[in-house]
Amino acid sequence: MAACIFCKIIKGEIPSFKLFESEKVFAFLDIQPLSHGHSLIIPKHHGEKLTDIPDDQLSEILSVTKRIAAASGATDYNILQNNGRIAHQEVGHVHFHMIPKPNAEEGLGIGWPAK
Ligand code: 5GP
Repeated sequence: MAACIFCKIIKGEIPSFKLFESEKVFAFLDIQPLSHGHSLIIPKHHGEKLTDIPDDQLSEILSVTKRIAAASGATDYNILQNNGRIAHQEVGHVHFHMIPKPNAEEGLGIGWPAK
């Protein structure tokens, strides 16, 4: 989609720190990281929400996300995927966050309820 910033990143029209690319998947560092190594893993197929992406375009995403989490060296990390404005989705192109959690002090910035 012409106006989509993540489609522009995939095409190289907006610069990014690329981590991985295949026929269907692209991964890069988040421009405003919540922790060191915060990465975004996206399908190349444009769709706003997870339900807009055909299964065959999503099948590789989880294994790429897993490999990027392993490559980050983090033993603790969050995988996050927001859908819709109320769910805090800012960019309308499906993306999975991989957010390393290096220590207890470096939080997600999200108010998870205490156990
Ligand atoms: P959301 O809130 O939609 O789940 O997360 C969108 C993410 O995309 C945010 O963490 C934000 O920092 C990141 N982001 C937005 N614009 C850009 C950009 O132009 N380049 C990169 N690398 N990340 C971006």
